[in-house]
Order: sequence, then C-alpha cells, then structure tokens
Amino acid sequence: MPKRIAILGAGESGVGAAILAQKKGFEVFVSDKGIIEEKYKKVLSQFEIRFEEGKHTEELILDAGEIIKSPGIPDRAEIVLNAVRNGIPVISEIEFAGRFTNGKKICITGSNGKTTTTLMIWNILKNAGLDVALGGNIGKSFAWLLAEQDHDYWVLEISSFQLDGMFDFKADIAVLLNITPDHLDRYDNDFGKYAASKFRIIQNQTDADAFIYWLDDPVIAEGIKKYNPKARRYPFSITQNIGRQGAYLITNETDFLKSRICIKTNNDIMEMILQEMTLRGKHNVYNSTAAAVSGRLLEIRKESIKQSLATFQGAEHRLEFVARIRGVDYINDSKATNVNSTWYALEEATRPVIWIAGGQDKGNDYTVLLPLVKAKVKAIICLGVDNAKIHKAFQPHIPIIFDAGSAEEAVQLAYKIADKDEIVLLSPTCASFDLFLNYEDRGTQFKKAVFNL
Ligand code: ADP
Repeated sequence: MPKRIAILGAGESGVGAAILAQKKGFEVFVSDKGIIEEKYKKVLSQFEIRFEEGKHTEELILDAGEIIKSPGIPDRAEIVLNAVRNGIPVISEIEFAGRFTNGKKICITGSNGKTTTTLMIWNILKNAGLDVALGGNIGKSFAWLLAEQDHDYWVLEISSFQLDGMFDFKADIAVLLNITPDHLDRYDNDFGKYAASKFRIIQNQTDADAFIYWLDDPVIAEGIKKYNPKARRYPFSITQNIGRQGAYLITNETDFLKSRICIKTNNDIMEMILQEMTLRGKHNVYNSTAAAVSGRLLEIRKESIKQSLATFQGAEHRLEFVARIRGVDYINDSKATNVNSTWYALEEATRPVIWIAGGQDKGNDYTVLLPLVKAKVKAIICLGVDNAKIHKAFQPHIPIIFDAGSAEEAVQLAYKIADKDEIVLLSPTCASFDLFLNYEDRGTQFKKAVFNL
C-alpha cells in the first residue's frame, strides 16, 4: 500500500479519512479548495495532520500514492482529472475504511429512502443487542467511526458519489431501494451512468453475501439482467410473486393498513401487519420491508424486529408532522429534493394540499407529478429564487400559484389559503441552496414559521 495519502475535501468524510489514515501509519495531507469549517480545522490541528485551504497545491497532492476524494467534489474537477492523468488511484473514504474492518457491512443505497432505511436497520440491530455502528452518508463518516473503534456490524448509508470511488469494497448485505433520476448534473445528464453507479453496491459480492432490492422498479429489474448479481437475492415487491426468497405484500382489499408483509428467508417465513409499523406511506412499506429482510438475514428474532419497527421514529424533515393549526396539518418534507420523493408525499395525501415547492432545480421533469397534482393540489406556493419552471409546468392546471421569498412568507401565504381539513405540505422537489444553507435549514425555518402562526 502507498505510504503517502492525499485527501481532497475537509468535511465529515475527508477529516474522518485523514484521522483513520494517520492512525494506520500513512503520511497524510488534506487539501480543500474552499474554506474549512472551524470544527474540522480544530480536529486536524489536534491530530497534527497537515492541511491547506482555499487552494489545491498540486506538488503536495500529486506525489501521493493514493487520493481519497470527498463525495462533494465532482470527477471533472481539475485536480481530480490531473490525478487520473498521473495514474494515481482516486478512491472514496468508504473504500478506504472498508480495508480496516472485518465487521459485517450492511450497505444501503437508492435514490430515495436511504436515510430512513439505514436508521431502521440500525435500530433493529441495536435493539437486538448487537455491537453496531451507524454511519456513511449519515451522521459520522465510516472512517471516523472506525478510527475511534471497530464494531461487529456496520450499517452504512452509501450515496452514488461514494459508490463511484469504490472498487474492492464488498457489502455483506447490499440494499438497493430504487433508482429514479437525481443528481443527473453530475452524470453528464445520462441516467444510465447514474444507474450504473448505484449498481456498484453489489460489486465483489459472492454467493455468501445477500442482495436485497425492490423488484417493482423497472430500472433495477433491467440492471439485474445486465449485472447478474452473484449474491443470494432477496427481492421485495408489493405487486408480484417473488419466488423462493424475499418479501411480498398480501393486500387486504378493504383496509390497506391490514395488509401483511410476508418475508421469506432461508426456509423461514415472517409476517408483519402494516398497521403495526409506525411510519405511514407506501414508500415506508418498502423501506420497512427491506429493513426487516436485513434483520432476518442476521437472524434477529421476529418479535424483536416487529418491536423495532413498531416504535421507530421517522427522521426529521421526511414527511414530518409539524402541527395542526385551525384544522390544517403542516407537514415538513424538506428532504424531498427530487420528483420521486415528492410523488410519494402527494400520493400519501388524502386531503387537499397547499403545496410548497421549488428551490434549486436539478433538471426536474415535472410531468410525472401532473396527475397527482391535478387530483390533490389546491394551490402551489413556490419557494425559490427562480420559479419559472414550476409556473410553466403547473400554471395551466392549478389556478392558484404564488411566489414566496422565504419560508416565513410561504407559511403565511399557506395559512391564508388553507381551509379546515386541508394539508400544507413543504415537499420542494428541489435542492435548497438558493435560499437556504441546506435542506435542514429549510425545514427548520419552515417549522419555526409554523410554530409562530
Ligand atoms: P435519502 O437518504 O435517500 O435522501 P430519505 O430517507 O432521507 O432518503 O428520504 C428522502 C425523501 O424521500 C423524503 O421526502 C422521504 O419522504 C422520501 N422517501 C423515503 N423513502 C422513499 C422511498 N422508498 N421511495 C421514494 N421516496 C422515499
């Protein structure tokens, strides 16, 4: 292995990688073209790790034997292209950290539902008393956690940008939730390239490993044919028969919540009634199913899995109930940053919706939402700097469309428009960076405005 490692980007993953690499005896140099957050600078200094900010000094980076690139830095960044031209391997922090643990790795990816499912699986393992850590694209980075302590089990949320820098890493259990258009700006607007990136979750798996995936997703179904996974397969579906192993839904025609999920793993069957699980919405049926299958593959008791899913608290900013004010429900789904996640939020609505949408567009195609919007949305409030695309897509169908320049203004407008028994839903379909620091900031400002009503 190379002795010198250069790390590009000094955020959660870069600093984690730096600490781990130093601990493993590498000579480490961290370079960030932007300004490094104070808390990370402090840590780097504390560990006496060399770093620079505001620039990439090529001589100090290109003499490394390996480069660990943070997921936020695109492959087409000049320094990355240069490294590749010089034949230096560029890997992700997950790839790097994966070399230093023998713990079992349960890795979750998909366009939507990663955080929710990762948290569900972590909860199931933790409640079963296993020595488990939660990390990756959520909370602390894998490398940072590992530098602190090794664990028997790792539940890791993995984004496509992280997968792009993974080569020899192997997941013991890989979960692929869905593949719908997102981040296409980073994949040359080529959906095929993005899907290929997601399928890296199964690379290096053998028949000793497991692959859990959503069978009803046409893109995944196509990918299965193309990549022919070697791992034991556990598909889940709510519409089709899954064969010998996996999970399917036995629908109760009169009351959907009385439907049962049937999980078949290694000659064993477990059933769960939807009503018994805390999180609502069809998308959460998928997430819970994938989590329960993971739990069963790790031989966790059925009762324990059911108990975990029955007490699971959803993550903040994901279809989060905020308050009921004058008979109107306010829901914060700020994490919905693409069309598909908003689709599920609207599908779940059973009452007229005042929909707060907009922000930084990532190449959205809104036509997919049109049938649901026509059926359920009473008014749209655009919360973004440039709302032209939303106006163009929906103006002919929804007569009431307003623009708002802040979360507070949007909530005030919604308050005026909404009648009793309606829903005000912040589900933006877009990134938040035009008006907010990030989606958390957007959701928090929304909630604050609601509490101030
Ligand atoms: P991710 O980590 O992949 O972004 P989250 O769990 O944070 O996923 O959820 C992001 C958004 O997607 C939220 O609006 C949430 O309600 C919605 N969502 C959650 N699970 C799914 C799913 N399986 N399919 C589609 N949308 C989902």
